[in-house]
Amino acid sequence: MAILASSNHLVRAPATAGPAWRQALRTAVRDPLELCRRLRLPAECANAAIRASRRFPVLAPTSYIARMEPGNPCDPLLRQVLPQDDELTAATGFTADPVGDLAAQRASGLLHKYLGRALMITTGACAVHCRYCFRREYPYAPSPAVGSRWSGAIAEIARDPSLEEVILSGGDPLTLGDAGLADLAKTLARIPHVRRLRVHTRLPIMIPERVTEELVAWLRGTRLTPVVVVQANHPRELDASVAAALGRLADAGIPLLNQAVLLRGVNDDLDTLVELSQRLVDCRVMPYYLHQLDRVAGASHFEAPVETGQRLIQGLTARLPGYAVPRYVREVPGAASKQPIA
Ligand SMILES: *Cc1c(COP(=O)(O)O)cnc(C)c1O
Ligand code: SF4
Repeated sequence: MAILASSNHLVRAPATAGPAWRQALRTAVRDPLELCRRLRLPAECANAAIRASRRFPVLAPTSYIARMEPGNPCDPLLRQVLPQDDELTAATGFTADPVGDLAAQRASGLLHKYLGRALMITTGACAVHCRYCFRREYPYAPSPAVGSRWSGAIAEIARDPSLEEVILSGGDPLTLGDAGLADLAKTLARIPHVRRLRVHTRLPIMIPERVTEELVAWLRGTRLTPVVVVQANHPRELDASVAAALGRLADAGIPLLNQAVLLRGVNDDLDTLVELSQRLVDCRVMPYYLHQLDRVAGASHFEAPVETGQRLIQGLTARLPGYAVPRYVREVPGAASKQPIA
């Protein structure tokens, strides 16, 4: 896309290198020093980032970095991707598998927690490493070749007639190519009891070029009812190119939902959450969930108290139409659904 081609002279992959989004994935910043240099941050930030990135490396696409304010170590977008010393401090109650994912494995790469819905870990790869990610410690299996890698999960879905909805998750399923995903959708559509195909992805926010014609085509073309759930946590993530990408999905009639995570120092403030909901609705994305932080090791500095979340939801309810107020939920291992808090 124009943004990449014009503002980043380091991107000079030949035309044969594949679609723009693949180049954006390849040229994403992986070096904590480079991230700090680009944003003109002080050396303390860089040193801390180097220390804390050893457990979970830095990953941030350049188009996302371009939305950050240079020189501001507290920028709410930066805070989501910049490793901090706080990550290295052990905090009681913060563990490697806070949501019981390992206990919910039904087949290789298939999690089944809730009635009617099963979640496929399609890949361990993401376009970004969110420092608060609840799967930051998840033991992703090395991916075998496409084709065979999902066969166990697909067999399990076919065997269980209660599974009406398949959620493609990861990692981020849209780090995979459209040909493979279209094939997967075709395979799932052949299972008579599957009705809906949901995609959990942060790619349209991180690398909006990922919303290609091919992607829209297979999402529209499947017998299954598609639902795309994105993750934006701050209104500034939704710039014009992201709005255009979401518009391409909305124009195709694909229902769009957003889940945000309540993050201290990012969006734990009423004006920010009001503006996030407004921007989402303008982009034809319905606010779905506001998640209480999952207590994953290394993320304790992102936790906002439940009372704060409840107060924020009250504020949103007073200021916005009902459809623009997300449900405030938390995930409780072993529970039959996400648990409403307010
Ligand atoms: C969150 C989640 C879902 C989806 O839950 P919804 O409330 O339907 O959005 C499904 N499976 C797993 C394992 C989940 O973690
Ligand atoms: S995009 Fe989702 S899965 Fe990937 S690092 Fe962020 S929170 Fe984790």
